[in-house]
Amino acid sequence: MSAPPAGRGAIELVFPAHKGLEYWLPDVIRRNYGKWKERRFHGYGIIEHISETGERVFTIKVSGTPNARFSADTLLKFCDIADKYGIGALRITTAANVEFITDSLDKALKIKEEVEKLGFLVGGWRNTLWGINACTAFLTCQIGVTDAVSLAKAIGDQLKPYFTGEIPLPAKLRVFVSGCPNACAGGTAMDISIIGVWGAAPIIREDILPVCIPPPKALARIPESKVFMVQVCPVGALRVKRVGEKFTLELIEARCINCVRCKDNCDAFDYEPEEVGWGIIVGGRLSNTGSGPRVGRMLIPWLPSNPPRYPEVVAVVKKIVEVWRQNARPGERIGDLIDRISWARFTELLGLPRLPADYMYMPEHARTFMAYRWRGEWVWRRVRDAI
Ligand code: SF4
Ligand code: SF4
Repeated sequence: MSAPPAGRGAIELVFPAHKGLEYWLPDVIRRNYGKWKERRFHGYGIIEHISETGERVFTIKVSGTPNARFSADTLLKFCDIADKYGIGALRITTAANVEFITDSLDKALKIKEEVEKLGFLVGGWRNTLWGINACTAFLTCQIGVTDAVSLAKAIGDQLKPYFTGEIPLPAKLRVFVSGCPNACAGGTAMDISIIGVWGAAPIIREDILPVCIPPPKALARIPESKVFMVQVCPVGALRVKRVGEKFTLELIEARCINCVRCKDNCDAFDYEPEEVGWGIIVGGRLSNTGSGPRVGRMLIPWLPSNPPRYPEVVAVVKKIVEVWRQNARPGERIGDLIDRISWARFTELLGLPRLPADYMYMPEHARTFMAYRWRGEWVWRRVRDAI
């Protein structure tokens, strides 16, 4: 192979370290490493890249599955298509989509046809929904309070036309769904970030708690501030409490911000299933373009969680997308629209009633902003007529 162009850096050993990067690259990509000079879009799901060598590749973006879980059978079908019509290579994107690569538009269209026969969609480029990231949640995670994967599926079914470009959007749209405030789907810096919330302070299971705190003799000797489970609570809501000869942890509910960090560190902390719901954060983004990266702002701290179709959450997400689509200027992401027209006007367009000052000014209260202090039903009662 030829060396990469000067100034672009050498092809280095990366994971897995026993082989060089060049080992994993398809021939056409390796030959044109760092030499791409032009691109053309063919619809919303096929992009053509042209190299200074004259070679060109066509990449087809295919909708993935929630949390990027594919059966071996599906992957084998994809591999057959990649071998038959592509260059024998696939790429899984950070938005859990799958990219096929081929060397002609005819073959790209054939790949589109084949994956659509399998029930997958082609799209996700330019001004579209780029994908829905979901964390693992109930699939394998013991911390999750809501099922991020099934909500991602329910939302994806409703947002299909925005992925395929059938309904073009003002700009790129990314959606994250996480099963708890740890926000493993990708954080809160996203256009729409939906997060499973406890909706109330945790319950402490006394039968498990002794595993998480020092034994009574040790607890009697060390200062409370040195107890690990006291240290993990960011707002001082956990205190050591002596009950006769025994020790336990006392939870000060008024201080708790439902951040789940105690649950991350100790299985004795649990949630009340009837209290859990979903918080919706809007207007964030990761990109450094335009007004730059930003954390999103809490729009609704609690919505009911009604699987499998989650009608309340899906309705709110659709409404957010439509308000943005109908009011944004070309290129404006949701956060840009909010900046231009104001938060108050944005919530008015959504039909949401004006919420209390603490809520409206949440970004200024940085610590509480990211948490979910509310026992959410009263919020839900106020907003449900609007959706
Ligand atoms: S966000 Fe919560 S539920 Fe989802 S994977 Fe992370 S810890 Fe688990
Ligand atoms: S949820 Fe967060 S704030 Fe509440 S007790 Fe646990 S660690 Fe503290």
